Amino acid sequence: MDYLPLFFDLRGKPVLLVGGGSIALRKARLLSKANAVIRVVAPDIGKELETLAVASGGNVLRESYSDVHLDQVVLVISATDNTSINRQVAEDCHARRLPVNVVDTPELCSVIMPAIVDRSPLMIGISSGGEAPVLARMVRAQIESAIPGAYGRLADLASRFRERVKSHFPDGESRRRFWERVLNGPAKEMTLAGDLPGAAAYLEDQLASPQEHSTGEVYLVGAGPGDPDLLTFKALRLMQQAEVVLYDRLVSEPILDLVRRDAERIYVGKQRAAHTLQQTEINQLLLDYALQGKRVLRLKGGDPFIFGRGGEEIELLAQHKVPFQVVPGITAASGCACYAGIPLTHRDYAQSVRFVTGHLKNGTSDLSWDELIGSDQTLVFYMGLASLTEICRELIAHGKDPATPAALIEQGTTPRQQVHIATLADLPARVAEREVHAPTLLIIGGVVSLHEKLRWFSPDRGDTQ
Ligand code: SAH
Repeated sequence: MDYLPLFFDLRGKPVLLVGGGSIALRKARLLSKANAVIRVVAPDIGKELETLAVASGGNVLRESYSDVHLDQVVLVISATDNTSINRQVAEDCHARRLPVNVVDTPELCSVIMPAIVDRSPLMIGISSGGEAPVLARMVRAQIESAIPGAYGRLADLASRFRERVKSHFPDGESRRRFWERVLNGPAKEMTLAGDLPGAAAYLEDQLASPQEHSTGEVYLVGAGPGDPDLLTFKALRLMQQAEVVLYDRLVSEPILDLVRRDAERIYVGKQRAAHTLQQTEINQLLLDYALQGKRVLRLKGGDPFIFGRGGEEIELLAQHKVPFQVVPGITAASGCACYAGIPLTHRDYAQSVRFVTGHLKNGTSDLSWDELIGSDQTLVFYMGLASLTEICRELIAHGKDPATPAALIEQGTTPRQQVHIATLADLPARVAEREVHAPTLLIIGGVVSLHEKLRWFSPDRGDTQ
């Protein structure tokens, strides 16, 4: 180990910044976050830098550096583009045993600055010892995406309860177990979801009657339309945390691969007319597992609240006061439209967009066809393949122009995506000529004509015209 990582308490302490340009400004912003008193010395000092220094309780000196400027400061940062000044500052500091950082010149530094992931009070510093700063920044980007922005709140919560937990569990081992359970369970999820009072109340409960097993919880997560890259950070985090996973047919294999390895996987199917489990059975399963104390992931295609029956699945949980959260996903309409180069709205073609179910319960009678024929809207039919002929026929019968462009997108956003383009009148016959694989999405409206122009975004995907 070439460097020992330490965290420097700079609150209210004077730090000298040598240099008045943009690099110095960057460092000043950092120092100001750490509540240091910033003193700047340089012949030329920018306005913003001056404002920061004054606001921090410090000052600026528009003059050349000399070693008297080092008096009383606890840290020195040299951020000039003049190597001889940087060297002089470093030498003076070394002579006084004063910690010094010279920007981008590790050999002159006694302290170096890490790349920082700031989840205050949680703080992560990443350093390559000055050898490969770009690599350190890349690692930082990965950590930034893996650690939710609200993690700091979790540390705040722990700090608020720290003393009480300590007196409640004088024994270090049981205290550690308590924190592990609490920081990994519902209190964590409530905190990250912004429900701080809920999290605090949960901790109070746990202190009043500590249970060895924390209550289970359910994550109803939208997995998007197929491409695993379309998952949200939050979805991925919960997928790697759950012990039991209930998934259905729409969840693609590459997405399932991202679920925690040792999680129990339960296929709950749902295919048109061949439901593997009844909805009520799925609702019950979610509840049962949660009551056993498990963290249960209900992974659904697209967005759980768009034709996903997500509302029904959490109703029973709410009745039994089981903690749950719902994570939105990219719905098939957004995913397929983007990957097919069809904007769902467009100033010239569509002022609104409607998501409609094509699963016609009573033949054709249960949709308000009259509302669907306006030419200034885009229609997106989910579950429309089986009723494609009826949908196109009814729209035309109710007055929609038979020449309206229409697209059927097959297995959208996956490597097997196919886009079939025709007119409203022709599409059923066009689709009947081919073997089409579910899931498919039907998009109808003027915006479909833009596909020709915009589809170069997805050059490898199959198209039929
Ligand atoms: N909750 C989901 C929709 C579930 S209903 C969502 O928000 O996307 C199931 C219907 O979604 C399918 O019949 C199909 O119409 C559509 N669908 C889902 N994924 C799709 C995909 N990758 N490509 C095309 N259509 C898809």
